[in-house]
Amino acid sequence: AMAPSNKAHVVVLAFPFSSHPSALFFLARKLSEWAPDVAFSFFCTPKTNGSLSSWPTLPNLRIYDVADGLPEGHVSKGRVDDEVEFFLVATPGNYREAVKRVDEIEKVSCVVSDAFLWFAREIAEEMGVAWVAFWIATACALSVHLNTDLIRRKIGTRSEEVSARMDESLAFIPGCSQFRVRDLPEGIVFGPLDFSLFKSLHKMSQELPRATAILVNTIEEIDYDPVLDHLRTVLNKCLPVGPLTLLAPTRRDCDSDPHSCLPWLEARAHDPASVAYVGFGTVVVPPPSELAALAEALEESGVHFLWSLKDNTRESLPAGFLDRTRGRGLVVPWTPQSRVLGHVAVGAFISHCGWNSVLESITFVVPMIYRPFFSDQRINARILSQVLGIAVEVKGGVLTKDGVMDGLDLLLKRKEGKEMRERIGALKLIAKNAVGETGSSTKNLKTALEIIRGSAA
Ligand code: UDP
Repeated sequence: AMAPSNKAHVVVLAFPFSSHPSALFFLARKLSEWAPDVAFSFFCTPKTNGSLSSWPTLPNLRIYDVADGLPEGHVSKGRVDDEVEFFLVATPGNYREAVKRVDEIEKVSCVVSDAFLWFAREIAEEMGVAWVAFWIATACALSVHLNTDLIRRKIGTRSEEVSARMDESLAFIPGCSQFRVRDLPEGIVFGPLDFSLFKSLHKMSQELPRATAILVNTIEEIDYDPVLDHLRTVLNKCLPVGPLTLLAPTRRDCDSDPHSCLPWLEARAHDPASVAYVGFGTVVVPPPSELAALAEALEESGVHFLWSLKDNTRESLPAGFLDRTRGRGLVVPWTPQSRVLGHVAVGAFISHCGWNSVLESITFVVPMIYRPFFSDQRINARILSQVLGIAVEVKGGVLTKDGVMDGLDLLLKRKEGKEMRERIGALKLIAKNAVGETGSSTKNLKTALEIIRGSAA
């Protein structure tokens, strides 16, 4: 049925990899709940959209497929980079066509997109409407991306040049003195700069200043002032709206517990903050040697542990490990991580420092032992240890038996661990306040909604 033509119709374009689509979907759902009079159309690839079907539906939020670009009969080798490559070849045509189809039925009034999808600016411009982008990570990571050209001028891009300067500080970017060149995401001065995603992110850094507003999944009072101040000089409007998961409805598709982690933890409830949780997010696969070292550390330390480990990497575990640790350890391919971290028995989190995991560590007051791998993970890690003092690096920077055992001992047994838990407790309150009725993130999201609705001053 045709909707009345004066009704606002917002299209939301999601980037279909790692935790990007769920973040965009949270946002779309939250806005749909807050504005039942506005129609929302969410666009992502069929695979992701399929996984959203377990959410309760909302009458004003519809979901549409865009082509994933995979050749017919493509068999996944489990390499995300390949799929990203195919997907980027199909963009922006796939989104443009899909948006055009809904626009013909119900005039689009605003384009909201993952910041990665910089071409949303062109799509919005063609339709004569505003573009609002959503950056799902930290303001710090956003800032280093936006300063890509400056960093390249200062540091260079030739690998000999860059490797000689890895330990230099990024103090020439406001608020970034605690980061070193080596903490940067790949694709800025190192890593394969000609990889299609990195070329696309460079283009993003040039386009974002033209967006009407950028929402950032962070908390004004935590992600810190000099960085946000700087972003506000570069961007039209920068609105911290995190942690989005606290703003979103509680029931989520990833919250089910098919491998019975919660009953297993419940049996440990008598011993608060005693269990180590291990999880490296949806994309990272640590090298086999590090997985083996981590397993040895868990075995020798004698702690109880819950490990989210993809089935195809189980072969990296030492022979007999699962048998020898049965009862004391549970290794499963997927956990309802938020609920796991929220369980009283869990006291340490061995993590890659994905931003969602970081926000969950704060929300549920579980300090981290970190081993970052790529993307913004090293930046997140530095914020945790250097700025907030709520996590420790695995000694030596890679997973070794001694390094992990030390970290576990520090977080689970020593007073440093207790102090970190106290500091996180304070941050948790800040985060909760931010998403409370009059909190900064709630206010910013309301401002964003006004802009998206087209009713902002
Ligand atoms: N997650 C989960 N169970 C798992 C592994 C991951 O629920 O077994 C969730 C986790 O709670 C987080 C997200 O997946 O919300 C991973 O996001 P993050 O930003 O930490 O890492 P990424 O996957 O983007 O590298």
